[in-house]
Amino acid sequence: MSLRKKARSIKLILMDVDGTLTDGTLSVLPDGEEVKAYNVRDGMGILMAGKAGIDVGVITGKTSRSLDHRSSKLHLAEIHQGVADKGKVLAEILERRKLAAEEVAYIGDDLGDLDVIRAVGLAAAVEDAHPLVRRHSDYICRLPGGRGAVREFIEFIIKSQGKWKTVLSGLSGLLDLKGEPAAPASGRKRP
Ligand SMILES: [Mg+2]
Repeated sequence: MSLRKKARSIKLILMDVDGTLTDGTLSVLPDGEEVKAYNVRDGMGILMAGKAGIDVGVITGKTSRSLDHRSSKLHLAEIHQGVADKGKVLAEILERRKLAAEEVAYIGDDLGDLDVIRAVGLAAAVEDAHPLVRRHSDYICRLPGGRGAVREFIEFIIKSQGKWKTVLSGLSGLLDLKGEPAAPASGRKRP
């Protein structure tokens, strides 16, 4: 099946966090708090997916308060932190949302993502992913983790679904006066 055909079935996009939504860098403050840098363009892509009627979520092995903040700002539909077995979480999500694996996309960078990458309908590897992750993925991003890979993958899915023009025309609703991504004007569909 062609990549675009696979992308047409996608209703939920799941993402790894460290090395995917970030470049993998963790800054550790003296009190032990970890600081990560997220990419604004990825954030915009996530809001655009919402405009296209596609839910987005994260599954990550780590736990961080900064991800809580980021998740609520981007209206993520699924937030799973401190996950040891990502495959198990995917199975639970499919069951609860009554989705087929073919309707879910995933983007990741490292070996802990392999189970999910092999299970979903459309899998992506960031440009600087582990070679095994690249080998098992359908889509290899041109951009690395934390540098727009997530945005690239989301745009590919939106375009494959023929929703690009609709999303673009609704884009002004995603921007506030400072040019920062704001909450979608019309809210997003939830199951
Ligand atoms: Mg990772």
